[in-house]
Amino acid sequence: MSATGTGHNADLIVINGRVLTMDGGNPAAEAVAVKDGAIIAVGSRAAIEELKGTATQVIDAKGGSVLPGFIEAHMHLFSGGAELAHLQLGGVHGFEALKQVIRDYASTKPEAKMLVGQGVDYTVLDDERVTRHHLDAILPDRPFCMAAPDHHTMWANTKALEMAGILHGRALGPGNEIVMGDDGLAAGELREGEAFGPVLDLAGEGRVRLGLATGGEPDPMPSATERAADRDIMRRGLAWCARHGITSIQNMDGNLYQLELLAEIDAEEGLPCRVQIPFHYKNFMTLDMLDKASVMTERYNSEWLSCGMVKVFYDGVLDSWTAVMVEPYADRTDWVGEPLFTPQQFADLAVAVDKRGLQMAVHSIGDGAVRAVLDGYEAAQKANGKRDSRHRVEHIEVTTTADVPRFAELGVIASMQPPHPPGAMDFPLEPTVSRIGPARWPLSYAWRTLKNAGAHVVFASDWPVSPIDPILGIQAAVMRKPWADSDPDQSFSLQESLAAYTVEGAYAEFAEHRKGTLKSGYMADLVVLSADIEKTAPADLHKVRPVTTICGGKVTYQA
Ligand SMILES: [Zn+2]
Repeated sequence: MSATGTGHNADLIVINGRVLTMDGGNPAAEAVAVKDGAIIAVGSRAAIEELKGTATQVIDAKGGSVLPGFIEAHMHLFSGGAELAHLQLGGVHGFEALKQVIRDYASTKPEAKMLVGQGVDYTVLDDERVTRHHLDAILPDRPFCMAAPDHHTMWANTKALEMAGILHGRALGPGNEIVMGDDGLAAGELREGEAFGPVLDLAGEGRVRLGLATGGEPDPMPSATERAADRDIMRRGLAWCARHGITSIQNMDGNLYQLELLAEIDAEEGLPCRVQIPFHYKNFMTLDMLDKASVMTERYNSEWLSCGMVKVFYDGVLDSWTAVMVEPYADRTDWVGEPLFTPQQFADLAVAVDKRGLQMAVHSIGDGAVRAVLDGYEAAQKANGKRDSRHRVEHIEVTTTADVPRFAELGVIASMQPPHPPGAMDFPLEPTVSRIGPARWPLSYAWRTLKNAGAHVVFASDWPVSPIDPILGIQAAVMRKPWADSDPDQSFSLQESLAAYTVEGAYAEFAEHRKGTLKSGYMADLVVLSADIEKTAPADLHKVRPVTTICGGKVTYQA
């Protein structure tokens, strides 16, 4: 390796680092050199400094870890970007505290058409269920709504329910519910998107939610001003990703509009992260509508912006009893949840998606949903033949012994979120652990069990459901504790957790030969951390911060 001639000079070098390449053949190094958006060398400081020319940008890692940029395998960029501007209610507990922060926020937003709070615990009032009357007592004359951290339940005050036209209830599709009170009026609790959509739409962020709510396109088409505002929401979300060391995003809601906004940003100044946006198939669609997924995939297929995926929701969540279980809920023994598709409908869909050569990612939280989705993938394999399809199951909060080996057998990826197990990070133990019941605890959020059974496990935050920070996810995975002493240990080692945010993420997008590893010829996507992550005690991992993020050879974040 020598630096004769400027043609060999690196555009950028990172020196003085503890480089964890995630490349088994060359696991550790001191420095990395980058040119034309790709890694050209990984090695000793002396060897890499040979590639330094007069114009080479030098980044001193100061002994901190240097990793492949994080690959976020499940998140919601557009709504996450929008929510950065909402009232953040995580960690707020009790009526008085809730009243204080909501009133303070309202006073700073005199113009807002709808005040929106995010991340309020289901147990914010302990055992008492939140109703519109609680919220009326806080804010009687302005519309207010607030979402649970999982984004599957919202609560609204009377003003908001009235303005949205749902105070007297409304018939909704399966799995969605406007909870009614004894007085015959909506109680304030709104379960799933069809129930709270009308309230959220009043916030003027309807376009943000489309990719999640319907997968459809804005109608009417947004004005130039609205488009510019939406691009700014995307930019805010992308910057938030870059500051957390993320270089690739696998988005889990989408439509053509999101792809267009990102393509516009790409054309204007370049994207700071690589983004995959899926086509979102809903249960009211027909199979011919998958044509749009194929069109999105053909039109957007660069290393920066792509589609190639169909996202589906099979069930809801445990906390509102909308997740689909094999056996009844432990605290509602006549109820197993209601799927958004019949198993046959889902299998037909899986066959059709697979036949188009597209990848599929399906939200499946209960063990009944996980089973039906695996059945669908099996049907696709039988119908279309076995191929390297890498279909995914998202969340897998509960599964069964019978289904664990099927992930490896069918080549299905387990996409899991270390911040999600109750007690692991921000989510309280209750009500979730009582819904699941001790008999199912051993196979709840069972990353270790699935990995040991040969499944590819990818990690993510599901932002804005959980904080986006991959290092918090890594800490949660490393420090995971069983709910009962008799439950198996589901924790991951640091190395396994890092792999689930890098190489395994690359595998999930068929890119393990181009990214997720620091290796010559790979994309120059990397993150420099503030400390040596391997020498950091698990309890201190959250203190390790991204200092520099580099994507495609360009610095996208600098602390
Ligand atoms: Zn999600």
